Amino acid sequence: MRDILKKAKDPRYISGIYNYCDRWCERCIFTSRCLNYAIGEEDIGTAATRDINNKEFWDKLHLIFKQTIEMMKELAAEREINLSSLDIEVAYDEISRQQDNAKNHDLSQAANHYSKMVGSWFESEYSLFEQKQDELNSIIKIGIGNVELYKEATEIKDSVEVIRWYQHQIYVKLVRALSHEEPVDIKAEDNILQKDSDGFALVALIAIDRSIGAWGKLQEYFPEKTDSILDILLHLDRLRRMTEKTLPDARNFKRPGFDDVNS
Ligand code: SF4
Repeated sequence: MRDILKKAKDPRYISGIYNYCDRWCERCIFTSRCLNYAIGEEDIGTAATRDINNKEFWDKLHLIFKQTIEMMKELAAEREINLSSLDIEVAYDEISRQQDNAKNHDLSQAANHYSKMVGSWFESEYSLFEQKQDELNSIIKIGIGNVELYKEATEIKDSVEVIRWYQHQIYVKLVRALSHEEPVDIKAEDNILQKDSDGFALVALIAIDRSIGAWGKLQEYFPEKTDSILDILLHLDRLRRMTEKTLPDARNFKRPGFDDVNS
């Protein structure tokens, strides 16, 4: 626990950077400045130890859970927050009502529909990737065009990874953005007040933008699938515009680290 508290005070880490990220640490450019990543890497261990069957992983996670509870109590005491005075039932009812409203919002429904469209597309087009794999393997075997083929294989793989990573996250982030009926004001580095809901909406918008790019790449490699990809792209584009209309300040949100020029 002392280690966590010590790290939390280390200026190397950007305060709250992990609150508005996409949690794709493997692809993140700020792992060295993220406390969440540092705790995970040093206290939870490498990816291998995250295997759900790994006893060491769960033991460490349980230890971190206890350390975090202690840290939370210590921080609450420092800030004179009386944890026992919270009316959990009332708070839960309110959160639950806000979440229900958010889930029923047109934007969330559209995001949920997108995630189902992606699921169905990959299910019906699974053979497409197998065929492409066979095609690439046979060309590599006869030794022609390896550099280009490597690029093609990498771009297809990357595009699929991007689409899959954000497939459900867009919905999750939009529900979070819409769950804040009375958004929390937070301060950016330059002391500008911002709304928490805009931060979550911005993460969803970035996920949408990146997904659009990834679908565009797939269309380039699978032109015969243009119609079905276009359906998805049109839906994503509508979702993007709906999000910008519903949360018009989202694009201006400054995420700690990612959008602070001086970090
Ligand atoms: S900021 Fe980067 S390293 Fe930290 S949790 Fe988010 S994705 Fe992972």
